[in-house]
Amino acid sequence: MTTIIALAACTGQKAGKEDPATDTAFEQVADRFADIEVLRYQVPGFESLTLQQKQLIYHLSEAALMGRDILFDQNGRYNLAIRRTLEAIYTGYKGDRESADFKGLETYLKRVWFSSGIHHHYAVDKFSPGFPQTFFADCVKQLDPSKLPLREGQTVDAFLAELTPVLFDPTVMPRRVVQSGDGDLIQASANNYYGAGVTLKEVEDFYAKLKKPGDPRPISYGLNSRLVKKDGKLIEEVWKVGGLYSQAIEKIVGELEKAAAFAENDAQKKIIETLIAYYRSGDLKTFDAYSILWVEDTVSDVDFVNGFIETYGDPLGMKASWESTVNFINKEATKRTNTISENAQWFEDHSPTDPRFKKKAVKGVSAKVITVTMLGGDCYPATPIGINLPNANWIRHEHGSKSVTIENITEAYDKASQGNGFNEEFVWSDAERESIRKYGFETDNLHTDLHECLGHGSGIILPGVDPDGLKAYSSTLEEARADLFALYYLADAKLLELGLLKDPEAYKAEYYKYMMNGLMTQLVRIEKGRQVEEAHMRNRQLIARWVYEKGFPEKVVELKKRDGETFVVVNDYDKLRTLFGELLAEVQRIKSEGDYNAGKALVENYGVKVDPELHAEVLERYAKLNLAPYRGFLNPVMKEVKNGQGEVTDIRLDYTEGYVEQMLRYSRDYSFLPTYNN
Ligand code: ZN
Repeated sequence: MTTIIALAACTGQKAGKEDPATDTAFEQVADRFADIEVLRYQVPGFESLTLQQKQLIYHLSEAALMGRDILFDQNGRYNLAIRRTLEAIYTGYKGDRESADFKGLETYLKRVWFSSGIHHHYAVDKFSPGFPQTFFADCVKQLDPSKLPLREGQTVDAFLAELTPVLFDPTVMPRRVVQSGDGDLIQASANNYYGAGVTLKEVEDFYAKLKKPGDPRPISYGLNSRLVKKDGKLIEEVWKVGGLYSQAIEKIVGELEKAAAFAENDAQKKIIETLIAYYRSGDLKTFDAYSILWVEDTVSDVDFVNGFIETYGDPLGMKASWESTVNFINKEATKRTNTISENAQWFEDHSPTDPRFKKKAVKGVSAKVITVTMLGGDCYPATPIGINLPNANWIRHEHGSKSVTIENITEAYDKASQGNGFNEEFVWSDAERESIRKYGFETDNLHTDLHECLGHGSGIILPGVDPDGLKAYSSTLEEARADLFALYYLADAKLLELGLLKDPEAYKAEYYKYMMNGLMTQLVRIEKGRQVEEAHMRNRQLIARWVYEKGFPEKVVELKKRDGETFVVVNDYDKLRTLFGELLAEVQRIKSEGDYNAGKALVENYGVKVDPELHAEVLERYAKLNLAPYRGFLNPVMKEVKNGQGEVTDIRLDYTEGYVEQMLRYSRDYSFLPTYNN
């Protein structure tokens, strides 16, 4: 599970933290287009690693980039064709590059790169191109056909006829993933996880037949395959060496093999080798074996994620998108998360959930603060700030989970947000602003720590309850559970006792921001007329709306008007905490018992619907600020330094590459899949 930042524009500022030293000039903002700001992150501490660690990181980082095309294809079967066509136009265009049409195409291409496809990375709806269809057709026809990703024997006209509606017709493939509604969620979703004509009923039946009732250690069914219909029969096309996406996976394996030679210890070497074995066989039992080895390695400094991991892109939450991160531990900041995990059992025992749903013995919640060095696949350029893995419930239960807070990313967010006018516009008064300024960064990080290393790791599912039973609502409810756990404990005296917070009032900064975000300001990410779709956003609105409504008679939280503008006012922080606790107990019950109907009602009643009047107001106020509601990150350029004998003597990072340059370089050097993978 990943945590993504609530809203890039509203973190507080932080004092007393040194800037990491860099040789080259560092410019944080790399690009700005549509609703996106692209930032750079720094890698403080990289220079102090050993050469062996740097070389390990180097090869893991190469492996992190090798799978880029996989995600494009998973997100939609025309994405590689569209990306390659637009890149060919972009690099070969001989006309006026300053014309409105060309600029529109450039912006569209930048969005396709950012989202790894034609649907918004977060809102999941299809972009509407800011250039005319005729311009596109002219550009394509002017290109040398050998530069176009034509199908075998396809004419340029046929190619245009195939691609044009995918780009320009809003009714064709309108949403990458459809999470709710009474229709067929599989058929309605434009992702490429299921073959043409496969229905929701067929998918459910197919996997129901595979699952063994009562199996205490089920594999993650369907995780690494596309389910297609061949000659009327459903089969899984497995993503592995020799299977689907083999061309990219072979490259990943190649770099992992090189990385293994630089492993810090035998356990880490075994982890990498087991991952390789899994990529070769596609066997999900081997993936579980890998996950167990990985979660149990808490001593290596360097760590990584590489594989088919998160399932947010599949309406059924089974098929995983490809992603990778490479990182090393931030030892100083990890003292904080160590304290939290050492006390995990105390937090579990004292949570407001029913004792029947508690873990009797919390298994090794390992938590650390990390510095990322490379992001790939579904972690790039839009980046999580926290990760908690593995996702398999039984492994979490028996072997624990590993949870990380990515502090060089949260720091970059924080720096980019200082003084941007957001809090001046939306926060009720100076008192709240001052509290956010003073404690915002600290409580944000702590919220992420608690969410990842305690929230996701807490509670049990009662025996016999299907872990997939909450279906399309499971992601939202799981995020709500983790957020509520964090919110509830942020206000607990235990945090003061443990020295994690100094001021008993600090939590109010996070409470205020959470409510403001969930009730109002996250709506800036939603287009007029639309509802809330993304799981993390649904979760935040669900929590904020629910406590707002339950506390309404006592005015725990109010929406107040001033000069015609709406503000969130928190009147009773104590009571607000109690309400968070009550909702936590209920969400835990829903998860533990697999109460689908109650879960559905909670999400649909509180998490989805948008008040159109408030939405319009928030959009208007936000537009005046001229901020980007979404942010993402470029990677540093990582290079081997060699001596006269060709031996690697160092690995250097460079932060000067631009957004377009990086994307074109990746498309040139890390693109291995055919245009059509079906
Ligand atoms: Zn989470």
